[in-house]
Amino acid sequence: MAFVDLHAHSTASDGSDTPGALMQRAASAGLEAIALTDHDTVAGVAEARPAADDAGVELVPGIEISARMPGWGDPGELHILGLLIDETSPSLLRMNDLLLDARARRNEVLLARLAELHMPVSRDELEAISDGVISRAHIAERMVANGYVATTRQAFDRHIGPGGDAWFDKARLTPSQAFETIHQAGGLAILAHPVHNATEPIQQLETLIGRLADVGLDGLEAFHPDQDPAWVRRVQQWAGRFGLCITGGSDFHGPQRMGRPLNSQRVDAVFLDELKQRLAQRRSLNASSQVC
Ligand code: AMP
Ligand code: MN
Ligand code: MN
Ligand code: MN
Repeated sequence: MAFVDLHAHSTASDGSDTPGALMQRAASAGLEAIALTDHDTVAGVAEARPAADDAGVELVPGIEISARMPGWGDPGELHILGLLIDETSPSLLRMNDLLLDARARRNEVLLARLAELHMPVSRDELEAISDGVISRAHIAERMVANGYVATTRQAFDRHIGPGGDAWFDKARLTPSQAFETIHQAGGLAILAHPVHNATEPIQQLETLIGRLADVGLDGLEAFHPDQDPAWVRRVQQWAGRFGLCITGGSDFHGPQRMGRPLNSQRVDAVFLDELKQRLAQRRSLNASSQVC
């Protein structure tokens, strides 16, 4: 059987492998394809492309956009994967710039607040551990290194996560805006790790997914290290109900980061074939029904 991993990060965001090294790792792990889905940027895709060819693995160009659903609690964060995108799409690149600006402004406020709280983290130390986007994962890592907190989890829970004393959210796209940009770039929009948006009662999340499907959502990430078998079944049922594709991936951030080995959530290559079929059907003028 052939396997693929449709969710992974590189040094272009908060992963610790360069895009090229990630392609090699994917090939060594025996994967047939790997999606590069860095947070808010496609900057790593250009480097990954030739490396994937060399390593003999298929690159699925992607992105993971942190969107916000208006009225969906605080912070209402939804992670949207864009898969099989054209990384040279002008609207995608414009969106990248906007997101990177919003992130830079957020980081400025967050760092100022941490300094006021006597937990300074300097730009220099962040730049030393980052090759691209600076994320809260980098900030948390330096907070541990500087002895302010014992673990990155503590950094998020007490300080830089929602409700923390240094918390400041960035401007975000709505899901519809993210879907539109991903579609303009020729790709498919997938809701990443729905378990992170679990509601009580769970029907609220189901209703939200139905609404998102009406405005362009193409799929749901059923297989993810944070989703147990009961969640996988639940997500599969929703996908069936709303005519959505299914994806899965390890959300790999590097051998040391976040404790998720590459391949920890590989999926059957047939899921990638189904994504391609959905795209082909979208392109086809005669499409009367969609795959998935
Ligand atoms: P940002 O995109 O800059 O807001 O940073 C979000 C990133 O921080 C996520 O992609 C994760 O890699 C990491 N992260 C978010 N929440 C936590 C948490 N509770 N513990 C550890 N890492 C987290
Ligand atoms: Mn991350
Ligand atoms: Mn995510
Ligand atoms: Mn991710």
